[in-house]
Amino acid sequence: MDVAKKIVLVVLDGGADRPTVGGKTPLMAASRPFLDHLATEGILGIMDVIAPGTPPGSDTAHLSLLGYAPEEVYTGRGPFEAAGVGINVRPGDIAFRGNFATVKDDIVVDRRAGRISDTHQLAEAIRTHVHLDCEFIFKESVGHRAALVLRGERLSHMIRPTDPLHVGELITRSTPLKDDDSSTRTASIVNEFTRQVHSILKDLPINRERERHGQLPANTVLLRGAGAVPHLMPFEQRTGLKAAVIAATALVIGIGKLTGMQYIPTQGATGHVNSNIEGKVDNVNKALKDHDFILLNIKGADEAGHDGNFDVKSRFLSHVDRVLSKLDIDDSVITVITADHSTPVSLKEHSGDPVPFLIRGKGVRTDQANEYNEFYAAQGGMHRIRGLDMMPVLLDLLGLRKKFGA
Ligand code: ZN
Ligand code: ZN
Repeated sequence: MDVAKKIVLVVLDGGADRPTVGGKTPLMAASRPFLDHLATEGILGIMDVIAPGTPPGSDTAHLSLLGYAPEEVYTGRGPFEAAGVGINVRPGDIAFRGNFATVKDDIVVDRRAGRISDTHQLAEAIRTHVHLDCEFIFKESVGHRAALVLRGERLSHMIRPTDPLHVGELITRSTPLKDDDSSTRTASIVNEFTRQVHSILKDLPINRERERHGQLPANTVLLRGAGAVPHLMPFEQRTGLKAAVIAATALVIGIGKLTGMQYIPTQGATGHVNSNIEGKVDNVNKALKDHDFILLNIKGADEAGHDGNFDVKSRFLSHVDRVLSKLDIDDSVITVITADHSTPVSLKEHSGDPVPFLIRGKGVRTDQANEYNEFYAAQGGMHRIRGLDMMPVLLDLLGLRKKFGA
């Protein structure tokens, strides 16, 4: 069968936008010789990654793009974050994202504990001295971030987490969101965790030391994003494709890990606009030798969108174009360029606008859209699809879809 053999799915996180400066989006204002070249050879369209008018989270968006219906598998961000920071989560575990933070008289003074950078000793103290009514795994991540996993019988994600999300507010007392034994029990375990963590951390020498230097002590861990770890059928089992994920953010790494992909780390990949995306593209080229599917997430544009910075976002996308031109792809590789959602600089948040996408490789019909941006994509031959349609379209290009009917 004369079809393409592999797929590279490039997700420019938050890479889509609304027209702002001079009626242009950051992507329209960017210099994109490489992406426009792909657009000329490929086919374009726009995509409602979840559904029209639904602003996707990065987690639900990536699940959709990979063919997993978020409404079936997603209960919260915690499980993906926990898997992404390296916790070996199991289906049924209850997972949270955590922040080392500063409280005074139970009122949150700083949600990032003065942007603390090294929390290893604090996490070690939590692991050693906290005792709960169930098994737990606690792991620190970059900066002030951490993850907590509760494991065992009679646990539920249907509880109110402890992070009030705003400074000046009381740390939230966890309460069950459902009137059943496991939710009630989990809420009390979470409150017990919070109580013990505070009593252990407040007197640790490292916190006393921070206070002496005028820094905020990291004397609590705020929890949010409660979710139950879903059972996800491995991507390779579903598609027959041996897959790898190349990303900087714990969330996307976690989604890759939970779907059984190999995570290939990249030195200096930070998820910021100064990230080592050259290294990521190198890793894609290497991974193409022994993988059939590669998910590459490049985060910087989302960050610039959240900062509301049009120029930074546009310049970053120009930089991405130059770096992606080093991709070692011929038409035996189906290459997809898209975004997981729009993060308009005018909103500093995700929006429900559809995202542009392009598909290039053997067998792809071309169209007249020959620039990669929101406006040309809307005139592309793929018209408008949903995120869950993407994998079937790509698998069909590889000749891997079964005929429906006789
Ligand atoms: Zn995103
Ligand atoms: Zn975002």
